[in-house]
Amino acid sequence: MTAGITVISGPAGVGKGTVVRRLRAEHPQVWVSVSATTRPPRPGEVEGEHYLFVSEADFDGLVSSGGLLEWATVHGKHRYGTPAEAVRSVADTGRPVILEIDLQGARQVRQALPEARFVFLAPPAWSTLEGRLRGRGTETPEQVALRLETARTELDAADEFDTTIVNDELGATLAQLVSFIGL
Ligand code: 5GP
Repeated sequence: MTAGITVISGPAGVGKGTVVRRLRAEHPQVWVSVSATTRPPRPGEVEGEHYLFVSEADFDGLVSSGGLLEWATVHGKHRYGTPAEAVRSVADTGRPVILEIDLQGARQVRQALPEARFVFLAPPAWSTLEGRLRGRGTETPEQVALRLETARTELDAADEFDTTIVNDELGATLAQLVSFIGL
């Protein structure tokens, strides 16, 4: 059974981590997948809780053995992936499962598990982004164009998701998420 899998994605810096932490704190029945990563731990990060910190060779092994539901190189640097077996076995118990992953990963899960549900977390400023970028006059026209292009790419990605939640105020974001997941 995979109907209870919800993927939460969105651009860098939108606050996915905070939203997922609060969701888990308020709804302990929710299970959040722990990703494998080749990134070294940051101070305070706990093995098996925040990530499974693995070597490049171990990550290669996970990929080649089909152990990952999806994986991606994020920000052009480190690899991150979702251990497939853990997700399947927890979903089978009927617990709601959350994957907090990047856009590339979300697209792969869409292919692998079309029955999963997809939430795009959007920053509140998008609607006013263009006006702000042009209006403040601190960027060259080229820089404005580049930023708008990035924003447009991200907006296009939002269309691929089942719902978009604008992360303006944390309480409101959580309420919408809880209602979408059906908790
Ligand atoms: P950080 O290094 O700041 O913990 O995470 C960087 C990015 O990696 C975040 O955007 C996060 O969503 C993404 N990420 C974390 N785990 C996974 C994963 O298993 N798969 C994919 N595709 N992205 C992930």
